[in-house]
Amino acid sequence: EVYSVLRNTFKLPSFRENQLEAINATLSGEDVFVLMPTGGGKSLCYQLPALVKSGITSGTTIVISPLISLMQDQVHHLLQNQIKAAMINSKSSASQRKQTFDLFVNGFLDLVYLSPEMISASGMVRNAIAALHKKKMLARVVVDEAHCVSSWGHDFRPDYKALSYFKTEYPEIPMMALTATANEHVRMDIIHNLNLKHPKFFKQSFNRSNLFYEVLPKKKTVVEEIAQLINRKYKNMTGIIYCHSKNSCEQTATRLADYGIKCDFYHAGMTQDDRQRVQLGWQTNEIQVICATIAFGMGIDKPDVRFVIHLTLPRNLEGYYQETGRAGRDGKHSDCIMYYSMRDARTLQGMILRDKELDRFNKEQHVNKLRQVTQYCENTTDCRRQQVLQYFNETFNRKDCHKQCDNCINGENFEVEHRDMTAFAKNVINLVKTLNGENLTVIQCQDVFRGSKTAKIVNSGLHLNEYHGNGRELPKMEIERLFFHLLREGFLEEKSVMNAAGFATNYLVLGPKANDVLSRGKKVVIPFTRSKTTRLETPSLSGTANKENKAPQFLSAKHRSLCSTHLNHSRDSTMASDTTLKDMAMKLPTTKTEYERLDGMEKNQTQYFQKFERVLGALRQERD
Ligand code: ADP
Ligand code: MG
Ligand code: ZN
Repeated sequence: EVYSVLRNTFKLPSFRENQLEAINATLSGEDVFVLMPTGGGKSLCYQLPALVKSGITSGTTIVISPLISLMQDQVHHLLQNQIKAAMINSKSSASQRKQTFDLFVNGFLDLVYLSPEMISASGMVRNAIAALHKKKMLARVVVDEAHCVSSWGHDFRPDYKALSYFKTEYPEIPMMALTATANEHVRMDIIHNLNLKHPKFFKQSFNRSNLFYEVLPKKKTVVEEIAQLINRKYKNMTGIIYCHSKNSCEQTATRLADYGIKCDFYHAGMTQDDRQRVQLGWQTNEIQVICATIAFGMGIDKPDVRFVIHLTLPRNLEGYYQETGRAGRDGKHSDCIMYYSMRDARTLQGMILRDKELDRFNKEQHVNKLRQVTQYCENTTDCRRQQVLQYFNETFNRKDCHKQCDNCINGENFEVEHRDMTAFAKNVINLVKTLNGENLTVIQCQDVFRGSKTAKIVNSGLHLNEYHGNGRELPKMEIERLFFHLLREGFLEEKSVMNAAGFATNYLVLGPKANDVLSRGKKVVIPFTRSKTTRLETPSLSGTANKENKAPQFLSAKHRSLCSTHLNHSRDSTMASDTTLKDMAMKLPTTKTEYERLDGMEKNQTQYFQKFERVLGALRQERD
């Protein structure tokens, strides 16, 4: 029956990975959790079984979906395929609602889409569900975009919390939760909040092999840069530019239009009609590029999106993954470009800290997530795929990237140095070992290792821990790489813990292989890379609470910049000693006189001021 519905109703020749398995599980009455990347084909996992009569349960399938536009889109498609589907939400008119309602309550619908507030707010809907259930005509309950149930997801909807209602009232009715957000916290939140019973879990690799990932430094001329890129590389090809605010969407669209690019903007401040017009224009290729906030894209299925650009860094990696996931659904090569600047990261952090909707706990979580995004941006060494997939708890072998990310390509322009980091690694592992039940996130542990004295650290006495500050001499970037490596190799791991409010947080604990390093003499060797070309490194976002460390980190970035200028200009003669370079990095002299007064300056070196001037200027600008 399943295959016949697939071919005759959906007109599809075969299943994609995990679809059949998920369908069979729900038809045999089990709770199911489907984790599939955006565009993977989640809808079919519940639309198809809704039409199958021979399952353990049959009748009407209820689908909870967070957005009216999503429901409209799906119901429209289903009706085109002669499938009995309808939706009930607060936006439909009273008469419309009544009509759908009658169909629903009498069991005439195969699929009914409900918005979550219908469950929490409408007694009528709850009564109808009860009536259906009594007649044994409630087949299953599906929660699409289930990450909305988790405040950890990037898209929390308070009404989703009320969905625990289903398992409480109807424990034997199978539920299915679907999402593209693979983070372990989110998964735990979903299972916990929906009360799923030992759900069958279907997950596939999140790697999207046809997407190219790149992070570029964001300059003042970024919009011009994008305009040229579009006109040169993506002529007449479809793309999305994600902007962080309504204003930015509108301004970017206006400026790109000056370059003859057919573009428009899309954000939540527009009327429903305007949004629909823009979306349609884009889907029918009248609009080439859309400048949008993250309000755009959920459930929109345009196969030939050739590029997704983030004009501003996203707030978390789940969001980044979903937004970039909208590129290349047709499987063809597509680019994902993110423009990163420290200033944007600070702006976003400020917005989180000022957000009145978030309590202290949530603010800390959001700031942590943002820091993970900045770590991603600033990590110019590890494969982008490896970084993102590790975040989603997936192990990925770098060679499978096939040079489809900037770091794998740039690897060729870097000198690789394999450094024995065993001593530091032991200290980090011991640090985690001595936490004695104190729950710390990866970021907090990095802070302790680096010797920060944030309020959290001092309050919990961690500044007295013998490993506090053990990594003080390492640049921040190297500490981040060390932790990344220790997690990847299983020397450390993250454990999800649910707090009283029902939210999960990841804490750092010893990994299964911790003792290999601590007692079995396993060496920890990490490849570090040095650019062969000059590239201005951006200082790291070290959090508001971590000011004492900012100067040295920024300094070391400056120092490296100056060093590379030094190396580029004089392979063997000495333009400046190490001492001079360090002092120069600190003072960033503006005049020749200031330059001549730097530490360790020799007479014959004063002539090189000119050579450093450009990079000094750039660094001063960055500092100011
Ligand atoms: P998701 O909800 O996971 O983001 P959708 O369910 O919207 O993805 O599906 C994305 C696209 O994949 C749709 O165009 C859908 O028709 C197509 N699709 C889904 N399953 C199959 C299949 N088995 N064979 C071919 N195309 C499929
Ligand atoms: Mg979907
Ligand atoms: Zn790569």
